[in-house]
Amino acid sequence: MLRTVNATPEPDETQPLAGVVPLRAIQRTQRSEQVRRQIEEAIKVGGFQPGDKLPSERELVETFGVSRVSVREAIRSLEALGLVRVEHGRGAFVNDRRSGLGEQMARWLQLHRDEVLELHRVRGALDELAAQSAAERQDVAAIEALVEAHEKLRAAVDADEPLEELVRLDIDFHVGLAEASGNRLLYDLLYDLHTYLAESRRYVYSTSSRPPRSVDEHEEIVHAVIANDPHRARAAANRHIVSIRELVISGLARRRSSAPNA
Ligand SMILES: [Zn+2]
Repeated sequence: MLRTVNATPEPDETQPLAGVVPLRAIQRTQRSEQVRRQIEEAIKVGGFQPGDKLPSERELVETFGVSRVSVREAIRSLEALGLVRVEHGRGAFVNDRRSGLGEQMARWLQLHRDEVLELHRVRGALDELAAQSAAERQDVAAIEALVEAHEKLRAAVDADEPLEELVRLDIDFHVGLAEASGNRLLYDLLYDLHTYLAESRRYVYSTSSRPPRSVDEHEEIVHAVIANDPHRARAAANRHIVSIRELVISGLARRRSSAPNA
């Protein structure tokens, strides 16, 4: 079920757009993505049941023939998607996803209300900085990867793909923006924040008007980054974050008798 990931992809495995993006910029992401997809598939077809422990990091490194970093990234994105939970010192366990997702998400948001709002604030500030830095830096390869991530999300929204896929592609876009900033610390911080915010993101994306709006807001960020306009990029990222935060706050307010002050 779990196959080795080719260190050098066969030509027919190469994505059509990969040709225009230097390999160096996307290689690691592709490997961790292939690892993630295989484990995700194994969970979906029941190869791993809820509560099962995934093979250890070392075993996965051997099975897939990829680096420890790629395995870690794959596990982190599985965790961000809510498919597994990582227990410190024990390993990664498959989550039980049989209970109603909507209810589960709403409950999670409610329980973590204050943390979610605080995390959104921090994430917003970092996202704005990432957008500004990406526009300043003009890393052509990273910007191409960002455009690709943006187009993938747009295509998925147009094709009305499942929530989990939209959430994953949205995270990819924001991680791409952080990468284009060229700031390693910023990238790491945002990566972690996206993991913490996966549940609230799932909630946000489950409201029907949100995915197309996010795509439009992302497009403004992308245009400003391409246009080498740091000020506009920061402002566009701010608008995106504010509109998401308002949605989260209104979702929280609907579930409470007293609405929180926005
Ligand atoms: Zn977004």
